[in-house]
Amino acid sequence: MPKLDTDYLVVGAGATGMAFADALIDHADVHVTLLDRRHAAGGHWNDAYPFVQLHQASVFYGVASTVLGSGAIQQDGPEVGLQERARRAEIQAYYDDILYRRFLGSGRVTFLPASEYLGSDDGNTHRVVSHVSGEHVEVDVRRRLVDATYLAPTIPATTPPPFGVTDGARVVAVNDLPAVVETPGAYVIVGAGKTATDAIVWLLRNGVEADRIMWVRPRDPWMLNRACVQPDPVVALGLAADTFEAAASSASPDEMFLRLEAAGVMLRIDPDVLPTMAKTPTLGMWELDLLRTVENVVRNGHIKGVTAGEIEFEGAVVSLPSNALVVHCAASGLQYPPMVPIWGQDKVRVQTSRAGFPCFNAALVGFVEATRDDDLERNRLCPTNTLPNTTTDWSEMQSRGAAAAAAFGAEADIAAWANGCALNPARIEPGQRDRPEVLAAAARVAEHAPPGRARLTKFAGHWIS
Ligand SMILES: Cc1cc2nc3c(=O)[nH]c(=O)nc-3n(C[C@H](O)[C@H](O)[C@H](O)COP(=O)(O)OP(=O)(O)OC[C@H]3O[C@@H](n4cnc5c(N)ncnc54)[C@H](O)[C@@H]3O)c2cc1C
Repeated sequence: MPKLDTDYLVVGAGATGMAFADALIDHADVHVTLLDRRHAAGGHWNDAYPFVQLHQASVFYGVASTVLGSGAIQQDGPEVGLQERARRAEIQAYYDDILYRRFLGSGRVTFLPASEYLGSDDGNTHRVVSHVSGEHVEVDVRRRLVDATYLAPTIPATTPPPFGVTDGARVVAVNDLPAVVETPGAYVIVGAGKTATDAIVWLLRNGVEADRIMWVRPRDPWMLNRACVQPDPVVALGLAADTFEAAASSASPDEMFLRLEAAGVMLRIDPDVLPTMAKTPTLGMWELDLLRTVENVVRNGHIKGVTAGEIEFEGAVVSLPSNALVVHCAASGLQYPPMVPIWGQDKVRVQTSRAGFPCFNAALVGFVEATRDDDLERNRLCPTNTLPNTTTDWSEMQSRGAAAAAAFGAEADIAAWANGCALNPARIEPGQRDRPEVLAAAARVAEHAPPGRARLTKFAGHWIS
């Protein structure tokens, strides 16, 4: 059996595996072996629907060493004034370039494509199998096994619909939407997250009238106004101050979200329905306007089954419009495995520490792995965070994120690295610090953070030190 040896074996070459490996090799003289069951780097983007775009600015995505895109501000289209957002092809080309030019070109990274991680008996020698050749490889790992799959999202292309489909029902995954040849009389969009909103916006922009769309929305979502999540310290500090201020003045997470809506930070599609879902992708105001034109919204909870003519819910049946195409946008996306320390005895499990922003967090984990030599200290600097699903989870994510940012931000070297890292949404470059607008926004954060953090922690329902 062929044998390899390496310092780090990183399982998963998606966004988090790539960001971890990039920061690690930049700050430590080590060799990394990266493996993925997909044939290319970039994880789920390789199977994403063709019209997908980052929901956030490109500069917040990718790896720390190399900015994705040009950092340009959009000059035309519906998002004039906001930062550019990469499309699927650009994201794939970016990861391809990082993998082949930067990683493999350095001679310090080995990539095992189309390969499955099988496990280890002794914690030192790990078994990997190639899906293509069937060949088994043993990898001796001198330092760490790194699991960069722990938070990998599920997507419709690789996850069957979470409901029954009987013969004769016309159901496709969102990826197949642009390939439809026989034009449907109506489109039934199933899901309430970013994928569903993207599908509806895409249909409307391609000439489908709003009354030909039925939207099965089990929960209504809160979304972040994209204008409030931009790589500008005034905007970033403003968002933090608004969040702390709204939390401090509210008696419940719902009230906080309503205050954030009044402040222009949070968006909901239907002003008459209080959302219960808070995964909070960002949304443009132009997209909100389009989404609001769809009036045929079905709120009967989750679908149990689809037949040729009906959609069945628990306790309700809805007739399908004639010649309807049902579009599966209902994979859960974000995953919520148990929160465990990032540095465990058996492996590093790449997770978030500051709120959101998986790429920055994975790069931070790589930087801390490279620059600290004690796991207790590493876990103190990067305590694990959760990803949000409900408004309570969102409060917990903000609370834990503020505690984490205070911990790692108190270390001079990490603060300097983070302020030079474009992935960091809270980045303040040294030349920006004394701008009067930045100072004013920082003063608002300083005023509202203590009571805001205390209230967020209370909303989260547990004590966070
Ligand atoms: C449509 C969509 C849009 C998004 N947009 C944004 C955005 O704009 N900004 C943002 O910050 N986040 C966004 N996200 C959130 C998403 O969580 C992150 O983008 C990020 O890609 C997650 O990276 P990951 O490495 O955790 O997972 P993945 O990208 O899924 O990578 C994990 C990899 O591990 C591999 N793998 C798993 N198990 C094994 C095994 N046993 N052996 C070998 N390989 C294995 C998989 O093949 C996969 O390639 C979006 C998510 C989706 C679904």
